[in-house]
Amino acid sequence: MSGATPLPLYAIGLGSNRRHARFGDPRGVLMAALAALESDDIEPIDVSPIVASEPIGPSRRRYANAVALVASPLSPPEMLERLKGIEPSFGSRIGQRWGARTLDLDILLWSGGTWSDGNLTVPHPAMTERAFVLGPLRAVAPGWRHPLSGLTVRQLAARLVRAKPVDRHASAH
Ligand code: ATP
Ligand code: CA
Ligand code: CA
Repeated sequence: MSGATPLPLYAIGLGSNRRHARFGDPRGVLMAALAALESDDIEPIDVSPIVASEPIGPSRRRYANAVALVASPLSPPEMLERLKGIEPSFGSRIGQRWGARTLDLDILLWSGGTWSDGNLTVPHPAMTERAFVLGPLRAVAPGWRHPLSGLTVRQLAARLVRAKPVDRHASAH
């Protein structure tokens, strides 16, 4: 490698809301997933703290979320294929979207900008509305500018926090 052209960067969102027989609670699942992500062509650059919930009652599901910054020459579709290859190795899912699953890996941001085809949209369309994404993302890439909104991750996270009292006010009427 000459080092003249820096590798593209990806922000990868990791989520879990199920235990795994070997890796334990969702936090343990994410630790193992981070190790699984590293490969010849996926170089870990940074990882956020893991945001985790404790179950409040006996039926409350635990969840954990984190964001990893990785450098990789893979194209976005190649990266998606890689992520989709890792997910099932942590256990099959129960139900459809948003249901219980051991591991969910999403492409949040790509330094190449935007990507859109039938299977993949980057930036991840829901990332700007999700505190469990923007919180960890801010820890590793506060200055990364969202290519569609033009706002930095720090600004997007602040906007989400500010929006809450307005929503409460609106719903009180
Ligand atoms: P959400 O997308 O709201 O976070 P999810 O992660 O539960 O929901 P999945 O069932 O894991 O959704 O993924 C459904 C499909 O979404 C995937 O098969 C993939 O083709 C597509 N997809 C589109 N954009 C992305 C992206 N940026 N990252 C990951 N998958 C994506
Ligand atoms: Ca997801
Ligand atoms: Ca997903």
